[in-house]
Amino acid sequence: MAATYNAVEAVAPGTLRLVERPIPEPGAGQVRIRVEACGICHTDSLTIEGQWPGLSFPRVPGHEAVGRIEALGPAVAGWRIGQRVGVGFFGGECGHCEPCRRGDAINCQNLIISGITTDGGYARVMIAEARALASIPDDISAADAAPLLCAGVTTYNALRNASLRAGDLVAVQGIGGLGHLGIQFARRMGCRTVAIARGREKEQLATELGAHAYIDSEAEDAAATLQRLGGAKVILATAASSRSMGPLIPGLSSRGKLIVVGASAEPIEVNPAHLIFGARSLAGTLTGTAIDEEDTLRFSVREQVRPIIETVPLERAGDAYTRMMRNEARFRMVLTIGQ
Ligand SMILES: [Zn+2]
Ligand SMILES: [Zn+2]
Repeated sequence: MAATYNAVEAVAPGTLRLVERPIPEPGAGQVRIRVEACGICHTDSLTIEGQWPGLSFPRVPGHEAVGRIEALGPAVAGWRIGQRVGVGFFGGECGHCEPCRRGDAINCQNLIISGITTDGGYARVMIAEARALASIPDDISAADAAPLLCAGVTTYNALRNASLRAGDLVAVQGIGGLGHLGIQFARRMGCRTVAIARGREKEQLATELGAHAYIDSEAEDAAATLQRLGGAKVILATAASSRSMGPLIPGLSSRGKLIVVGASAEPIEVNPAHLIFGARSLAGTLTGTAIDEEDTLRFSVREQVRPIIETVPLERAGDAYTRMMRNEARFRMVLTIGQ
């Protein structure tokens, strides 16, 4: 086996470089993965643009990595060489902070984050904590599984943790990398699913993904339409547009919740009366742990949820990242890395 591997590193804000590195040995509790595919996520910009506080260059981005275990470090139990695994944003909890001690690992105050605090999946090889591994079902390709480790688990967890009941009205705002998965999950979880986007361009796709109804937010008042349909129990806000979120809140049913997963830098404006009358709420949610990722993958295989992806070889990571940042990805870019 070669003693080196290729990786794409962020070396300075905005600069990615293909490098060759010596193959590392996994430490205690870690595994070494031969990466087959890694999704490109908007959050990778925190690494590539150097926006994460305390980030140190060089750093290999990537938190949607899928591959096979090729080496086990000391004290790893429950995983075997050759096993298909994935690593998402959740890179491992510390186990000793207060949220960890209360069993809330995703809110760990010392979270290891793949591609941010440790090198990620834009590489042929990566080291991961065994406790951060998700097992990948046989019936899904590495490229299809990759985006489910971030965009997938984010939307899946947001919906399944929202106390929904079969038949409840769920609106998914935005039909992009997150939204196109959110629509599929909401429909397959048994919800009455409404897609909201600007213009009619994505209406047919929304229907194909499983939406029962479509709202063109340019042509109509989306909140009023949701109220006519009975009011949404949940609005999953996936478009990175804070300005479009506040006006949707009156479209919630009583005790309904607008769940934010699409992040932009601008504040969300909310009319307090829209929260008070109807006891509505505005909430955020952060991806999920390794076992949540496994749940997402199993559900997706069983219910035939798949991301719409565009694949690009590792060597073209820079171009793919630029296209994703220009909002040109339909809908998730995935680096195919192979052997
Ligand atoms: Zn992500
Ligand atoms: Zn912790």
